[in-house]
Amino acid sequence: MDKYLLFTPGPVNVAETLRKAISKKDICHREPDFDVLLASIEHKLLSLFQIRNRDRYRAVVITGSGTAANEAVLSSVVGRGSILILSNGEFGERLYKTSLLHNKRTHLIDVPWGSVIDLAQLDAFLASHKIDVVAMAHHETCSGMLNPLAEVGTLAKAHGAIFVVDGVSSVGAEHVDMETCNIAFCTGSSSKAIGSYPGLSFVIGRKKQFNRLASHKAKTTYLNLATFYDFLRTSSQTPNTPAVPLFFALEQALSNILREGVNNRFARIRVRADQLREGMRKLNLDFLIAEKDMCSVLTTVRVPASVTVRDVRERLREKSIIIYEGKGCFAGKVFQVGNIGELSREDIWFFLASLKDVLLTLQAEAADLVAPIRRANTNLVMLEPQKAALAKARI
Ligand SMILES: *Cc1c(COP(=O)(O)O)cnc(C)c1O
Repeated sequence: MDKYLLFTPGPVNVAETLRKAISKKDICHREPDFDVLLASIEHKLLSLFQIRNRDRYRAVVITGSGTAANEAVLSSVVGRGSILILSNGEFGERLYKTSLLHNKRTHLIDVPWGSVIDLAQLDAFLASHKIDVVAMAHHETCSGMLNPLAEVGTLAKAHGAIFVVDGVSSVGAEHVDMETCNIAFCTGSSSKAIGSYPGLSFVIGRKKQFNRLASHKAKTTYLNLATFYDFLRTSSQTPNTPAVPLFFALEQALSNILREGVNNRFARIRVRADQLREGMRKLNLDFLIAEKDMCSVLTTVRVPASVTVRDVRERLREKSIIIYEGKGCFAGKVFQVGNIGELSREDIWFFLASLKDVLLTLQAEAADLVAPIRRANTNLVMLEPQKAALAKARI
């Protein structure tokens, strides 16, 4: 095969239309051409979010990956107030660490990676602490779990806090209802479910909340959300030099989604996840979390006995398939299979057939390796633990 199939939660295989868009003719970002481009992206982002009261929301686009948008929010919205981070995984922890750098009064409620957020604990915490901002990752990518926006948003509002959401790995695949869920700001990235190249991120937020940012002292230069909003509002521009070719590509990616229909796009991604999950269940694979809690973007799979994640990834790579490995406490225990970007049904079938082949081969090889324990006289190369086991068996 002449290309990699990216079964990852981002980067993704991009559409051919994006390859054309990114190589459009040069423009100057301080000319009306760019004002129009940025306005078009903003307009399309509001459509992707299916915002009903469009005049109440705006979206800024940042040159920088998803982390840039998250850091812009965390450094800009808290001021001297206090923020509570909800964490059930790697990306919740990242929000916490980023917030600590910018906000003295950063609180954390964390549950083990892959566990469900404890809403009763959140309610009790908000009742006993003065919290101004609650922050959470929508899709906790390390486990594949989708966290409850509506419930957390309702609790935050009931206790007088604004709600900010890291939507980097869910936006473009799952509906984020800013209005119903009381979300003040939500971040997203170009290179995950939206299906474009890496390098851009965005923050979509309520105008009312954007306007409030000016009253906070700036904590960073490049990522100051108030400055981004100011430039957007006054001139449909960005404060610093934007990565213009990536803006062309993002605009194209959003056009592709809107042409397909936002709900159709969400449904198509969900169907692919279902196909993958059904196929992997047939291979007797176990998933890390319950299917009802999963985002439609990726599936986190427990690695079967006698096989290593590293070997699975290597053998799949030989077949031009790229998957992710688990991180942190999941390292070596799980692998992750994404289903966003330009992956066809045939690609899914090819993946499932390849995975089956790889697992059968690796398990057969592992069986061969343990055979010498029974047939001591073959001169197969043995690994240290097997030598030890053999020595023990001889006693
Ligand atoms: C990928 C991801 C990020 C960070 O994105 P970068 O592109 O690495 O900056 C943040 N939050 C979540 C939930 C993610 O999945």
